[in-house]
Amino acid sequence: MTRNTFHPTWPQLSGLQTRNGNELIAGTVYCVGRNFSEHACEMNSPIPKEPLIFTKPIGSLLVGEEAIVQLPAQSNDVHHEVEWVVALDKGGKNIPKNEAWDYVAGWGVGIDLTARDLQSAAKKAGKPWAVSKGFDGFGPVSRFAPKPTSFFPMHLEDYELELTVNGQTRQQDKLSSMLFTLPELVHYLSTLFTLRPGDILFTGTPAGVSQVQAGDQCRAVLTSNTGELESHLNVKITVVK
Ligand code: MG
Repeated sequence: MTRNTFHPTWPQLSGLQTRNGNELIAGTVYCVGRNFSEHACEMNSPIPKEPLIFTKPIGSLLVGEEAIVQLPAQSNDVHHEVEWVVALDKGGKNIPKNEAWDYVAGWGVGIDLTARDLQSAAKKAGKPWAVSKGFDGFGPVSRFAPKPTSFFPMHLEDYELELTVNGQTRQQDKLSSMLFTLPELVHYLSTLFTLRPGDILFTGTPAGVSQVQAGDQCRAVLTSNTGELESHLNVKITVVK
């Protein structure tokens, strides 16, 4: 096992700024599980009655249009989960749903990489999912696009997520298929935790998750009907030799 001594920095959310015009630095990475009913079905899991929340360690986060992710030696079954990823530039507790959009700085598209074998074993044993979701690079996200001032009301049926592996579509759905909307998620999270500027939310994945292999090229895209606000992310999967 290679021992690394270095001083990693806290990731900057490229494309976004604080309300004072400074760099926006990543905070907590929150994630939502089973937020698309067809994905819950494909996992043979019940549709949640309230948001299913977990977190990823900060080392999982990579920000930029190109990323390289190494498959961890501890897993033989890593899956892609394409997701709409939202960043906050304002913090608070008990945020009302009707004010939640005011806390959003912008968004991008990301992949919640998941060691499915480790997650399944953890579920069976009643253990946390943290390891299966948290390896270095398991949360690559595109550059963030600032929230436009002109998009309200936001029509989520106009926005579509797509993930291809080596050019073949594996996942595709509209953001309007989400079970819990972004305001509902921000509100719910803020009733549990104090949210901070730089906090990030992976909002859940559509159906079609599947295994990635070393050498695969994954491309995640978020598009809108208008052709504006597109986000792109290319992830090369590699293995430690
Ligand atoms: Mg996910």
